[in-house]
Amino acid sequence: MENCVFCKIIKRELPSTIYYEDERVIAIKDINPAAPVHVLIIPKEHIANVKEINESNAQILIDIHKAANKVAEDLGIAEKGYRLITNCGVAAGQTVFHLHYHLLGGVDMGPKIL
Ligand code: 5GP
Ligand code: ZN
Repeated sequence: MENCVFCKIIKRELPSTIYYEDERVIAIKDINPAAPVHVLIIPKEHIANVKEINESNAQILIDIHKAANKVAEDLGIAEKGYRLITNCGVAAGQTVFHLHYHLLGGVDMGPKIL
């Protein structure tokens, strides 16, 4: 996708700090971290957000969760716990319209979600 920042990162047209990568998924450090650990888990296929998930592409959700588990283990936040969230649409605060999950940890976030 032209002009998609995450497609450009995947193609190495933009720099990023990469924590994990395989054929289908990449995990990078968020450029503006909201927690001590803030990683973006991103499918290499350009999917705008979870509204575009269907039977034919849903395997990517398993791949994303497996990558998140591995990165959480590797960065030492798996035991204490972490938050894995995705924003879908403008009202949710989505700013990059290429599906991504925020892996947030390294701090006690408490029970509030908003
Ligand atoms: P959203 O608001 O769409 O759920 O999250 C987009 C996230 O992408 C934000 O947390 C923002 O900091 C991050 N981001 C935007 N542009 C870049 C970039 O060029 N590189 C990296 N690593 N993160 C970015
Ligand atoms: Zn893209």
